[in-house]
Amino acid sequence: MSQKVRVRCFQLYYGTNHALKNIDLDLAENQVTALIGPSGCGKSTFLRSINRMNDMIKGVRTTGTIHIDGQNIYGEKVYLVELRKKVGMVFQQPHPFPLSIYDNVAYGPRLHGIRDKKRLDEIVERTLTEANLWDEVKDRLHRSALGMSGGQQQRLVLARVLAVQPEVILMDEPASALDPISTERLEELIMRLKDQYTIIIVTHNMQQAARVSDTAVFFLNGEIVESGPTDQIFTNP
Ligand code: ADP
Ligand code: ADP
Repeated sequence: MSQKVRVRCFQLYYGTNHALKNIDLDLAENQVTALIGPSGCGKSTFLRSINRMNDMIKGVRTTGTIHIDGQNIYGEKVYLVELRKKVGMVFQQPHPFPLSIYDNVAYGPRLHGIRDKKRLDEIVERTLTEANLWDEVKDRLHRSALGMSGGQQQRLVLARVLAVQPEVILMDEPASALDPISTERLEELIMRLKDQYTIIIVTHNMQQAARVSDTAVFFLNGEIVESGPTDQIFTNP
């Protein structure tokens, strides 16, 4: 099993707030890793560090390294557009663009220069199928994405990420705005996608972490306090 993401002595400060302290972690590919811990312990900050989303926040300072496939994303000559193509992100609230279902999925491929209608059609169908959404939306691809249910919107957002063929998918509490049935469908989807992607999910729901993850990482006050295989961590002696 090869290591996809390698984090060494990583620290992050928001101004004087030391939000991540000396993070060392290796994440294997084709696995789901759950980041667990109380509110404010640094889970989202760490997740956003893996595609440099924190760069947009004023006063952020980092030290240490995060390698993805051997490249230090905090090193020199990192192109953020390329990084975010490789490392996609799904947020807590589903937020489709106010465009048609089709145009939401085609957005990323178009951004990366794909213009051919037939090719875009293929990508849209393949990606919506991969996100378990094709059968539900194939007859209304050109209607607004904003008319979909919350659960469908979250799968659409995931499809939008899958459409640019990322290698790593970051999810920040992706089910917290969903009802139980939509949550179950999303969890099934996550477990199916890990064959092809490296998935990192933030959750404060222990049952969810136990259900979907292969590796569990516990944060407290900006530090990793425990990590290991989920089946060992969640089995009480
Ligand atoms: P969660 O605990 O679910 O991550 P929060 O309520 O802590 O949600 O954060 C919501 C948003 O506010 C996030 O985008 C986070 O980055 C931002 N945020 C959290 N703490 C601060 C802060 N001290 N200053 C500015 N923004 C913050
Ligand atoms: P969690 O995701 O575990 O709830 P966060 O990563 O959101 O934790 O927050 C970790 C720490 O960083 C908290 O002290 C929070 O207030 C702070 N923080 C988070 N986002 C921001 C931000 N955008 N600006 C300033 N401080 C932030």
